[in-house]
Amino acid sequence: MVSLPKSLIESLTDLPNYTVRVSSRAKCVRLSLSVEDGLEVVIPDNYDRRKIPEIVHTKRDWIARHQNKLDERKAFLQSQSPHELPESINLRSLGEHWRIEYLAISLTSNAISISEQPEPMLLVVSGNVANVQACKALLKQWLMRKAEKHLFSWLRQVSTRHHLPYRTTTVRSQKTLWGSCSRDRNISLNYKLLFLDNKVVEYVLLHELCHTVHMNHSDKFWGLVSKFEPNYKSLDKSLNQAWKIIPAWLEAT
Ligand SMILES: [Zn+2]
Repeated sequence: MVSLPKSLIESLTDLPNYTVRVSSRAKCVRLSLSVEDGLEVVIPDNYDRRKIPEIVHTKRDWIARHQNKLDERKAFLQSQSPHELPESINLRSLGEHWRIEYLAISLTSNAISISEQPEPMLLVVSGNVANVQACKALLKQWLMRKAEKHLFSWLRQVSTRHHLPYRTTTVRSQKTLWGSCSRDRNISLNYKLLFLDNKVVEYVLLHELCHTVHMNHSDKFWGLVSKFEPNYKSLDKSLNQAWKIIPAWLEAT
């Protein structure tokens, strides 16, 4: 019989709160932390749940580190007014600062529409603007289209410049990822990248393109990244702090 050391048994009773989610797609146990769901343990079908406390215990340093980041993020979100509509949208990556005007006009339907005036950069949201959720959804749609327009061609340029081909690309709304690259070399990019400095966005694009060669974060992978961007460490650091400039109203959509 193998028994757990006493100190471990004691600490297993003092674990952070977590929820368990069964996923038929999960191949192994995975922990995930987000502002919305807290700490989640994702387990495959038929997984022995008795093993979970020990897994959470062994990961406690990782959890504590990420929990700090998350608490900071929560405090930041609460300091803003996530339930109000934004007065402007600052897309640092494109050097575009859009002012937003809301025009309450009663249309026969409850519709809301959005129109762009490029000079000066002005977005006009008109219709039933009292419906805050619908206005936010519309602005988010506008951002997604903008992201598709700019990130697709940007990725193509970086890919050509460094001879790192990929297959397809999609723009998505992800909670915890800036971008990802699948084994089939399909790259997905978070539309929120638009809010970041262009150097940081360029680094994310390069990072994902380097995953088309190395599907991991091995020394070889970082070697390839540094060949194209010697300053990658400080850019990676900025990326870690970048969530601070994503406006809170978007999180509440
Ligand atoms: Zn990576």
